[in-house]
Amino acid sequence: MAIATLRDILPQAQAQGCAVGSFNAADYSMAEAILEASAEMQVPVIVSVAEAHFRYLDVPGFVRYLRERAAELPIPVVIHLDHGTSLTVIRSGLELGFSSVMIDGSALPYAENAALTKEVVKAAHTLGASVEAELGHVGGGEGNLTEGTEADPANFTDPKQAAQFVEETRVDALAVSIGTVHGPYRGEPRLELELLAEIRSQTAVPLVLHGGSGLKEHDFRQAIARGITKVNFFTENSLAGVEAVRELLSRGRPVGYPDLIASAKARMKTVVARQIAVFGTENLRGL
Ligand SMILES: [Zn+2]
Repeated sequence: MAIATLRDILPQAQAQGCAVGSFNAADYSMAEAILEASAEMQVPVIVSVAEAHFRYLDVPGFVRYLRERAAELPIPVVIHLDHGTSLTVIRSGLELGFSSVMIDGSALPYAENAALTKEVVKAAHTLGASVEAELGHVGGGEGNLTEGTEADPANFTDPKQAAQFVEETRVDALAVSIGTVHGPYRGEPRLELELLAEIRSQTAVPLVLHGGSGLKEHDFRQAIARGITKVNFFTENSLAGVEAVRELLSRGRPVGYPDLIASAKARMKTVVARQIAVFGTENLRGL
């Protein structure tokens, strides 16, 4: 199985009433935490590399490593380019070996978003890769860890428009804006579950929830019950890794660099395993 696309796992998740985690890896220890937790639990996983994190990485080398690791694991692994902003980035990502891409034209007017997404679908499907797009806009800043954000109802996804968008573009998955934000929240997140159910009733495409960090177990279960099949998860994992390092340093004993990395990785692995259980991904064991 090994390297997979969204088409290999999300329809199955939809049928089983569960979701697959899309965990961001911005370095090797994050990637290993994600891959090890998923392999131990024998569930499919989406390892996401955000364009915003490219500056931390030798991207060609990192994708080569992910492909090699995925190939030797007995679980489906989607190697996903997260929040690609242009056709140029998407094309080079596909050339490097991403098996799946997200084009984020959500800040564009509808027609431009649809046109850009169509181009990406053409480029990706020719190579067998899958495509996620976004309609309505999930606010907040990726990588923003200090200031909380509130969701803006003006940016929520319109259900009828979502159906039209999927029909027009032929995307494999659609990210929707239903009350979540990227990064930390200002106040409590409030999911628009009725809106989500309405979107689900208008289109059969697998739906994606961005801004998963900060939501409670109950929120995830309700969203998954109403059609979310892919959950993007980064901020909480990143903060957990840092917290593990902080704890280690605060013991006041000398610490070697490898111990710092190992402690961050171990903590992130625990968080990933916990989220896999919350998403119900174990329903897809053996896929
Ligand atoms: Zn996102």
